[in-house]
Amino acid sequence: MALEVIRSIRAMQKIADNLRMSGKHIGVVPTMGYLHDGHASLIHAATTVSDAVIVTLFVNPMQFAANEDLSRYPRDFEKDCRIAEDAGAHFLFAPSVEEMYPKGFATTISIDGITQKFEGVYRPTHFDGVATVVAKLFTATKPHIAVFGQKDYQQTLVIKRLVADLNLDIEIYIQPTIREPEGLAMSSRNVYLSSEQYNQALVISKAITLAMNSVQSGNRNREELNSILRISLLTLENIEIHYAAAANAETLEEPYMFSENDSIVFLVAVKIGSTRLIDNAVWNPN
Ligand code: AMP
Repeated sequence: MALEVIRSIRAMQKIADNLRMSGKHIGVVPTMGYLHDGHASLIHAATTVSDAVIVTLFVNPMQFAANEDLSRYPRDFEKDCRIAEDAGAHFLFAPSVEEMYPKGFATTISIDGITQKFEGVYRPTHFDGVATVVAKLFTATKPHIAVFGQKDYQQTLVIKRLVADLNLDIEIYIQPTIREPEGLAMSSRNVYLSSEQYNQALVISKAITLAMNSVQSGNRNREELNSILRISLLTLENIEIHYAAAANAETLEEPYMFSENDSIVFLVAVKIGSTRLIDNAVWNPN
């Protein structure tokens, strides 16, 4: 089936209603476009657990701060259509900014707690923008399931909180991070990197691997794990570390010592030149 592009919320809702009435299971994959293999893996995963897959493509101004890269965020609509269709999507919901935020729009969904740390410190309004747009994308596409990437780890916790707190009847699937062969997590923003910066950025996944190895060999001291991350990141001179931290993978709490049965997430955000990159890995006790 050829990919169908939908621009209006009302049209999207009608299609979703019809799909639901004919007993179809709807899966949604929210994206900001400039799709790569990471997005494709989410779309493919959605096809395995739903009958009709909707990819949403919306560069959401509400989740960018004034000093961020909204205006230069990369876009390639034709290529996105091709990648979405090849990965198995049936619909591409690509509304305009005016369609999503018409004159008079005044609602913000704000989630407390887990949004305050890490990304929340550097991007204080980011998760309000994410929660609000994802709620709107959900009411437009009426999915049974939604698929997100572990690449944006804190975001996955925010979405799960949103769904639980608002009683949204949607099952959330999280898919592993897809990486370049050298280890760099795929990201639409990697296109900003020069080839030299691309090579430098490999330090991020290397640092996380060292910390994962340390916890695997029994280290539960948070400060020591953080030092492993920092020391390896700082082998790069021109790196600006926003955070490089081990935390409880479920709560993002930062105890002095992790307990034996804690799942631990290593979260990293750095700037290389003017490009901000995030990555993470989760260590599970068994
Ligand atoms: P974005 O278009 O960057 O907003 O991402 C849309 C979705 O794709 C989010 O759920 C991301 O976590 C996910 N995603 C982005 N990069 C990757 C990746 N390298 N591997 C897996 N999922 C990803």
